[in-house]
Amino acid sequence: MPKRRLLWHLFPSYAATALLAVLGVGWVALRQFEQSHLSAVRDDLRARADFLDGQLGPEIPNDRAPFADFCRRFGPASGIRITLILPTGQVDCDSQNRPEELENQLNRPEIRRALSGEARDAIRYNQALDQRVIYMAVPVLRNDSVFGVFYLSTPLTALDQARSRIEIQILLVGLAIGVCALPLAWWVARDVGRPLDQMRQAADRLAGGQWGTRAAIPDPQEPAALAESFNRMASQLQQRIGILIQHNNEQKAVLTSMAEGVLAVDNQERVISLNEASGKLLGLNLSQARGRRLHEVVRNADLTRFISRALGCQEPIEADVLFDFVANVSHELKTPVTSIKGFVETLLDGAMKDPDAAERFLRIVAKQADRLHAIIEDLLSLSKIEQSEDAADIVLEPNPVRAVLEAAANTCQAGAIERNIAVVLTCDEQLKARINPLLLEQAVVNLLDNAIKYSEPGRDVHVTAGESNGEVTISIVDRGSGIASEHLSRIFERFYRVDRARSRKLGGTGLGLAIVKHIVQAHHGRVTVDSTLGVGSTFTVHLPRA
Ligand code: ADP
Repeated sequence: MPKRRLLWHLFPSYAATALLAVLGVGWVALRQFEQSHLSAVRDDLRARADFLDGQLGPEIPNDRAPFADFCRRFGPASGIRITLILPTGQVDCDSQNRPEELENQLNRPEIRRALSGEARDAIRYNQALDQRVIYMAVPVLRNDSVFGVFYLSTPLTALDQARSRIEIQILLVGLAIGVCALPLAWWVARDVGRPLDQMRQAADRLAGGQWGTRAAIPDPQEPAALAESFNRMASQLQQRIGILIQHNNEQKAVLTSMAEGVLAVDNQERVISLNEASGKLLGLNLSQARGRRLHEVVRNADLTRFISRALGCQEPIEADVLFDFVANVSHELKTPVTSIKGFVETLLDGAMKDPDAAERFLRIVAKQADRLHAIIEDLLSLSKIEQSEDAADIVLEPNPVRAVLEAAANTCQAGAIERNIAVVLTCDEQLKARINPLLLEQAVVNLLDNAIKYSEPGRDVHVTAGESNGEVTISIVDRGSGIASEHLSRIFERFYRVDRARSRKLGGTGLGLAIVKHIVQAHHGRVTVDSTLGVGSTFTVHLPRA
């Protein structure tokens, strides 16, 4: 959920507080005003009742027509309705109407109270006048007995009008204060938020590795304390990271300078760290191996078993493990040597005397000797390239690429013709790259040889060279068997073959692509492969421009 800004947290409470304060003060003032106004009206009505009482005289006359006349004049002149009510509730005289038109008044509580000798008032809403009216009932006492009640009433017009005016004013002031609360809340939010924002920025920089970052100390006490704590934490972090980096560097220096291979794995058998010597020994790319399972990066069952054993026991253990490459070479050489030995022994045991069998066996021996020769040739090429790579003595000069491709195509021509495969070459005469022509030719021969070997007869192979994105690319495209995606990351490893038997049958050594990879590396380039099973493969050599 998106977070609300600090301003919108503060504004409602500021506005509500201001509004409540205005309404509260307004309400109290209004009540006070109404009370004092009403008490003045009450006093006035009481004084008028007393005055009327005086007009009636000490002895109440039986003929009260003159008094009624006086009331009819005096009442309207002072804006008051005057009524004299007898203890029966009957109206004796009234300043507005004729008494006989008026109903009995005993149902009004204030009149009943006044008849018991106590002056009382009441405020009611009068529907006919559509406003509030104050009624004052004052007993008329003669000789300790109640003669009747003076019932005086007057509308509270002035009070109600003043009250509405004040209410509107209070509302307007409240609204104005509510509006003023917005800039106030904004100002406070900005003031409170600024140091927090600065601290957030400092924390971001710290998280980004700028260990020297410190937050500015703001003025108010609480954010200042927070900034100081943050800075203390940053200093400690800087110190600890510094120590860790130093330890790490020392460890790295020791591991790098060691001739012995060191490799560490976690309890999931994931590679945590490895030094260059172990990388070289196991043929691993250091950065690619880190974090991956050991058995994914090193195909050596003995080593994997040894590591699992070490993880399962408390004591240090040791074992001899024959590494991949050596084991593979021995295995690769052993197969033809065993075969040659077997057939030679069979020949010596008498088969030599049977000319047909002798010829058949000798052909097999010759084929296996060829195979041995091919493996040894490839191994020698590989080690020569590796040595030159290490010594950095491979001469790279700007040379035309087409000549190299033509020479490679010529070398592979016999194989191509045998399989009825046309090699189609597309390359501009002018195209040049910084290359070692002989080495590059060997790489292209290996790729072309594979393209021909792994294609059905009659399928063309295209060799296309050109320039794109600042590099020279040479692509060898076939419409052969293709390679399943799970093998693509491994085919450049030494002796890795997708189908071992097929490779052998076709005279492959399993070293062709490893040689290509090294040659391309020696040219400061890279080789990529794009292949779909059953559709074909494209191997591309990328070289820096001349
Ligand atoms: P090999 O001598 O077996 O050809 P390489 O190192 O040249 O050895 O190639 C390794 C493996 O990659 C081959 O055994 C083959 O399975 C596969 N491969 C290489 N090139 C192609 C290709 N053009 N088409 C199909 N598979 C190929």
